[in-house]
Amino acid sequence: MADDVISGVYGSTGKVLSNRVEAQLSTLEPWTRHLAEEWLRYLQQYGVSYQITSTRRTFLEQLRLYRDWVTGKSKFPAAFPGRSRHENGTALDVVFHNVRAEDAAELAPYFWLKWGGQRDPVHFELDCAALDEQPSFFTTYRECHENPFIG
Ligand SMILES: [Zn+2]
Repeated sequence: MADDVISGVYGSTGKVLSNRVEAQLSTLEPWTRHLAEEWLRYLQQYGVSYQITSTRRTFLEQLRLYRDWVTGKSKFPAAFPGRSRHENGTALDVVFHNVRAEDAAELAPYFWLKWGGQRDPVHFELDCAALDEQPSFFTTYRECHENPFIG
């Protein structure tokens, strides 16, 4: 399994992402975008169906989501505005239609993506710990550590 996943990262994989998905991912920080593309392309090859529900957010979008969460209007946690990985483009939210989130999440670490877990099952973000081993990605590394909050 691991070898297949790794070839998904470095090889050119078959399925093409839809224009809508490409447009959504294009708002992300370049490394996060690249890794998320490869991860989703890999899942698509195995028939996984999904919808991206959030990528980069503005401060005001984050404020609205935070307000919805604290008032109980949304079941998904949202970080305080200014503290979300969505605001620097290193996180995305994905709803899976035909697999459980934990199953899709199992593959995420091979693509340097970290799952939000049962607390925030739609949330995936660039894994800062993985970046610690790759300090040459300086901008991403810095953004990662300046925004340690999830949601
Ligand atoms: Zn999220």
